[in-house]
Amino acid sequence: MSKKQPPGFNTANLHADRQGKPEHGVLHKPIHTSVAFEYDDARELAAVFQGKKSGFNYGRQQNPTVNALQDKITQMENGVASVAFATGMAAIGSLIFSLLKAGDHLISSSFLFGNTNSLLNTFTRLGIEVTFVDSTDADQVAAAIQENTRLVFTETIANPVTQVADLAGIGALCASHGLIYVVDNTMTSPWLFRPATVGANFVVNSLTKYIGGHGNALGGVLTDTGTFDWASFDNILDTYKKGDASSWGLTQVRKKGLRDFGATLGPEAAHHLAVGSETLALRMDRACFNAQKLADFFHEHPSIAKVNYPGLLSHPQHQRARTLFRHPGALMSIDLDASIDCFDFLNNLEHVVSSSNLGDTRTLAIPVAHTIFYEMGPERRASMGVSDNLIRLSVGIEDIDDLLADFSQALS
Ligand SMILES: *Cc1c(COP(=O)(O)O)cnc(C)c1O
Repeated sequence: MSKKQPPGFNTANLHADRQGKPEHGVLHKPIHTSVAFEYDDARELAAVFQGKKSGFNYGRQQNPTVNALQDKITQMENGVASVAFATGMAAIGSLIFSLLKAGDHLISSSFLFGNTNSLLNTFTRLGIEVTFVDSTDADQVAAAIQENTRLVFTETIANPVTQVADLAGIGALCASHGLIYVVDNTMTSPWLFRPATVGANFVVNSLTKYIGGHGNALGGVLTDTGTFDWASFDNILDTYKKGDASSWGLTQVRKKGLRDFGATLGPEAAHHLAVGSETLALRMDRACFNAQKLADFFHEHPSIAKVNYPGLLSHPQHQRARTLFRHPGALMSIDLDASIDCFDFLNNLEHVVSSSNLGDTRTLAIPVAHTIFYEMGPERRASMGVSDNLIRLSVGIEDIDDLLADFSQALS
């Protein structure tokens, strides 16, 4: 007899909420708002606090609705466990805060989400050394490794210029040097790419973006792939060295990061994000289809000086994107010809919304240098390939003919 096939990505995700047999046979995990949990036997309460028994103690650390969402993400990323946070930034910040200390060194991609760039600069003020390198080339990462290097951080497809990191090359490098490999998968989401396949030890997802997908709730999550040997890592506190050494790192993040720093995801947001995640694959397939059509259109258009989109043959990492990802993403940036005023262009758009955020169902456009990358200053912007006339587009799921017509009229 043939073995029973494990369910696919969508089937598993759609049925994940009912695994714990929730009350009344409900199909959605209920929104549990209780901050505290009662124990008939006070000894059991103590056992939960001491980690000898699993259970809920306080809403800052655990909540049934949030746990259900964490389980969904763990399944999507093919990990072993996940911890959710109030935002994607909180996930990244809590990870570094919990696992590194003054005197440690981390290597980061220089093509980063703006707030992550700013956050890493703050960590340098607390004594953590940071080197920014071109992560499209694993050799550049290798050249930056020092005796005190502990962690390498990169995004999959960078925003807004869409550089694709050498994800497999960096993974091999981290494995051979015993470095913690953290991949921010927000831009690709687990439907396009699973960082566990290239050796990532931790995967970051901003749930606010594609996974939630509707721009109606903030959230972030960290998934442990269970592949790092924490026994050889000096920063784990003795009290967290319990059980299998592959779980110590996430335990420390739960305690030092979630519990002590306290950027907890609320149950209402968790519910919105869980419902949104049910259509992740459908939305992304459609948004990526639209993005490719738009990129082809801009590529031919005389008023567009440059299009950055990994689905174009002209993109420097086109082949890598094709090899690694199901689709080349739904985010792109376009450099308008110098004759066009970027604000006039945006104001002329009818369906496309001038807005920050990405991964929404709606197509959103933003003039990068004047908004999200403004604080960085002109030099750092130039080093990241961000010109004053660069527009970032997060392509949504509208009807493609309407999007093409809208951009066409706004450019004429
Ligand atoms: C948005 C974003 C974040 C931060 O997520 P928030 O939920 O907004 O805090 C981190 N990384 C990337 C790549 C992002 O796009």
